[in-house]
Amino acid sequence: MSRNAELFERACRSIPGGVNSPVRAFRSVGGTPRFIERAQGPYFWDADDKRYIDYIGSWGPAILGHAHPEVVKAVQEAAVHGLSFGAPTEAEIVIAEMLIERLPSMEQVRLVSSGTEATMSAIRLARGATDRNKIIKFEGCYHGHADSLLVKAGSGLLTFGNPTSAGVPAEFVAHTIVLDYNDSEGVRAAFDAHGQDIACVIVEPIAGNMNMVKPAAGFLETLREQCTRHGSVLVFDEVMTGFRVGPQGVQGLYGVEPDLTTLAKVIGGGMPIGAFGGKSEIMNHIAPVGAVYQAGTLSGNPVAVAAGITTLRLLSEPGFYETLASHTRALAHGLTSVARKHGVALSTDFEGGMFGLYFSETIPTSLSDVSAGNIEMFKRFFHGMLDEGVYFAPSAFEAGFVSCTHDSDVIDATLQAADKVLATLA
Ligand code: PMP
Repeated sequence: MSRNAELFERACRSIPGGVNSPVRAFRSVGGTPRFIERAQGPYFWDADDKRYIDYIGSWGPAILGHAHPEVVKAVQEAAVHGLSFGAPTEAEIVIAEMLIERLPSMEQVRLVSSGTEATMSAIRLARGATDRNKIIKFEGCYHGHADSLLVKAGSGLLTFGNPTSAGVPAEFVAHTIVLDYNDSEGVRAAFDAHGQDIACVIVEPIAGNMNMVKPAAGFLETLREQCTRHGSVLVFDEVMTGFRVGPQGVQGLYGVEPDLTTLAKVIGGGMPIGAFGGKSEIMNHIAPVGAVYQAGTLSGNPVAVAAGITTLRLLSEPGFYETLASHTRALAHGLTSVARKHGVALSTDFEGGMFGLYFSETIPTSLSDVSAGNIEMFKRFFHGMLDEGVYFAPSAFEAGFVSCTHDSDVIDATLQAADKVLATLA
């Protein structure tokens, strides 16, 4: 028995499903999850000492590659001075200033400890600031596991959602309207019917939780226009895309300004952190200045903040995003051309250090498009690549991530592995 298998069996006795976050369990692809022992740059090693080229990068944070020496040093130095104080620090001001300087839509920001906390707090804030209850979200977008966001659409336009998790009372999601991603017409119809009551629209401005799906022309602009017209708050959930797709997130790429932005992942460089921020006029509703309560024992944790400041500083070096995008482009274009050679229907999309990989002729624009892809073929590809030492996300409904350490040698090795694997899938 492999050590991974031994550890998984042991883990299942003390941890539900053997994992601390569901997708890690390989449920949708089958097989034994790999237990990771160490990581460096574009690689990690499992408990059987097998090396993998890592394309999940901790699901986004590892944009500088694993264990970047300057980030590790910053963490070590911060840790020596104490792990948590529960009182303010200068470093929290520094990271807040860095975020505000980089995202023009952000005037003030509050730190939390995860993406879930960021979106949950942003929604409470939007509701508190507008004194309205309803929210709009889109099918296939994930915003963490707060109750009112764990919703899938019922059938058709303008239906209110049903909870997608046991333990969420239907009443808790009664105010959540679920629409199709990229359906501008649906957005207009929802505002026509409920505009007065809509506190906010929350969206992944490039979706990364139904594989990667980009906004269609005019979609984000429609959200902006409808929110402005109806006095609703536009929340861009850039937990995944923030500092991942470009230096100013999706809002910088598309030139559409949200009222609130949620962040996590990259801004902590691998340490637990999250943030939500936006217009001061809205942020002033947060306690202690305003009436919307929000708090956290470990919020602004000095070790996480040190990792975040160092990461953001390194991302600002000239040419960083150009290099990152060139690696991602080489991977995406390389995979499609290898697939074409073998007659396999595979398409790819990418932005900055994020990519989508679809076993379909065309790039999807919604969850139903993604679901229509060849999921069985994805599973075979996933396991073939894993055997070859390349670790893609263990689900056809997740995006992939490239770091600046995924240089041409690493991409070439990936494409060679893909050449072998795709030959067997044709
Ligand atoms: N929003 C988005 C867009 C995400 O991708 C995620 C996590 N994948 C979250 C929110 C939740 O973040 P966390 O897992 O840090 O709670």
